[in-house]
Amino acid sequence: MPAHIDGMPIWYHPIYTEGIHPDARFPRERYVELINRLKSLRNSNQFLFLEPNKASRSELVIGHDPYYVDNFLNGKLSDKEIKRIGLTPWTPKLIPRTLRLMGGAIAALNHVVENGGIAGNMAGGTHHAHYDFGSGYCIFNDLAVCALLALQKHNYERVAILDLDVHQGDGTATILQNIDGALTISLHCQENFPFRKAVSDYDLELEANSSDEQFLQKVNQAIDIAIKFNPQLILYQAGVDGLATDALGKLNISREGMSERNKLVFEMAVKHSIPTVVFMGGGYSKPISHTIDAFCDLFTAAAEANNRFTNSHSE
Ligand SMILES: [Zn+2]
Repeated sequence: MPAHIDGMPIWYHPIYTEGIHPDARFPRERYVELINRLKSLRNSNQFLFLEPNKASRSELVIGHDPYYVDNFLNGKLSDKEIKRIGLTPWTPKLIPRTLRLMGGAIAALNHVVENGGIAGNMAGGTHHAHYDFGSGYCIFNDLAVCALLALQKHNYERVAILDLDVHQGDGTATILQNIDGALTISLHCQENFPFRKAVSDYDLELEANSSDEQFLQKVNQAIDIAIKFNPQLILYQAGVDGLATDALGKLNISREGMSERNKLVFEMAVKHSIPTVVFMGGGYSKPISHTIDAFCDLFTAAAEANNRFTNSHSE
């Protein structure tokens, strides 16, 4: 029987905000605003906040070209490579930030491997990072690295990556395309970045301006695909950039629709007892408070589901 822990573990570190240059276009304040919000909730004891260690080089190269990893770690990426990642102005703090971010994902993975249930990292979902280059605010691919660790280190046979961010999980798809046991499912807006799409095992596309109803129909399809695969683990990219208020998404999803999405995913995890790791993903609403609301809903729903998940297993 797993050791009893109070609250759903969420890995978080102040460097998630501070490691990004204050002048970057990326809304770095979303991390600190979200943790403050979660801590201010009446039932904030439903979360257990933990600080991640830095991921090691050997963990990164399980999913990435060692040459790219070393260039990043040594501050030797070219201007072109940095521009493609887009977290500019570049700062050396991005190196420890990226290692903590990857460490948070790996710690959440290790937690659910050992204890079951649901755990999360309050950053990441870096699905645009490819084997040997970064892209779209993503440097290393936490989803792909965690899938490969689960398969190769923890000897899992079937891991499903359920990517419900408004953008396609192109890096995840390419890194895992020839990996037996990893199922990549991406639900995204077809008219959005990346404009040259990769090929996931399943790509479910929505047209721009799609409504809650159209979105949730595809979410249900994605969940049905995941269940048929009978996964031992789900890696859930839970980006909320499909919100109507998002500056980068092109969908028309309400806060309620986004909540319903999360409910459907976590219901599946609880009902089928599938350990699940939550990766935060995109969210760029203007004002950012709409993004914070939706992520607050996400982690609250995850904690509530984790409570039911772990209680049903300790009887
Ligand atoms: Zn996104």
